[in-house]
Amino acid sequence: MELQITSLNLKGIDETKRPLVIAGPCSAETEEQVMNTAHHLAEKGINIFRAGVWKPRTKPGGFEGMGEEALPWMKRVKEETGMLTATEVATPKHVELALNAGIDVLWIGARTTANPFAMQELADSLKGVDVPVLVKNPVNPDLELWIGALERINGAGITRLGAIHRGFSSIDQKIYRNSPMWHIPIELHRRYPNLPIICDPSHIGGRRELIAPLCQQAMDMGFKGLIVESHCNPDCAWSDAKQQVLPDVLDFILDRLVVRDSTEMTESLSALRKQIDELDNNLMDLLTKRMRVSREIATYKKEHNMAVLQTGRYSEILEKRGAQGVLCGMDANFVKKIYEAIHEESVRQQMDIINK
Ligand code: PEP
Ligand code: MN
Repeated sequence: MELQITSLNLKGIDETKRPLVIAGPCSAETEEQVMNTAHHLAEKGINIFRAGVWKPRTKPGGFEGMGEEALPWMKRVKEETGMLTATEVATPKHVELALNAGIDVLWIGARTTANPFAMQELADSLKGVDVPVLVKNPVNPDLELWIGALERINGAGITRLGAIHRGFSSIDQKIYRNSPMWHIPIELHRRYPNLPIICDPSHIGGRRELIAPLCQQAMDMGFKGLIVESHCNPDCAWSDAKQQVLPDVLDFILDRLVVRDSTEMTESLSALRKQIDELDNNLMDLLTKRMRVSREIATYKKEHNMAVLQTGRYSEILEKRGAQGVLCGMDANFVKKIYEAIHEESVRQQMDIINK
């Protein structure tokens, strides 16, 4: 399905400029914390303020947000600083309350995006409403589920639509709280070039030190904007304390961002791209030849009554090429993945021949 997308149309904001920045605390905790953080951010030129009013928590008993009580604080932020306000909505009731309180931008959290029933209910509650909606990726790395959620909201007539990349749950996380799996938002961008994608370095990184490098990476990859958690007293935050930064620190990070916006194709770039095209051609050629030899091996195995999978040989290839790859400056895991994929296709082709 095509998405019908218009600009986010955010009042007073030049959307042609990158990055579009949304900042504010993970949660609205107290009126004082909200106002204090908001004033500091506004002084630094931030013009969209985020704060979670309703917080989805993994286990009951954690801080679940102040709820309705916090909405008048968001109103005050708007009146006193002129910033637009944004909050997470997870149910039709949240949508109704947020809109009545004059919240300017709604976002849908990762846990909600993962649930098509919840998404449809939200979409139904947004019919006939003119408000920008940002859909975070689902917790699991499933691009189709993310797109499905965007389609549901779009189907309700919301064209002021955007996506937020906040990383994905993964079993082998080391560095990140949520693995960025950049190829997923990049594929989303390839399919919907007009859909603004905003990076959430706070929930990807989970740690303060990672905010700056992740912001830079997002800019280098052409993301439209950033949504960053910022708190007037991060260490004492009631949720996500480790990943929040002071408004001053955020300002410092944004100040040092290098934003490359030139799409101009110079001669040397196009010459380099020609080289890449030629090398890719060679790669395909080599792969085709390799598969041909592999099919010949299959014929041999069939004639000699041998099994397709010879695990000893497979391990030998993985080890040898893995080590070679590392010597050539490549990541061992990357080489392993390539050889696993080649091997899988090779086995598929051999099976074809053996079972004929
Ligand atoms: C948040 O933005 O504070 C939040 C709860 O994020 P996510 O839905 O990405 O976990
Ligand atoms: Mn948070």
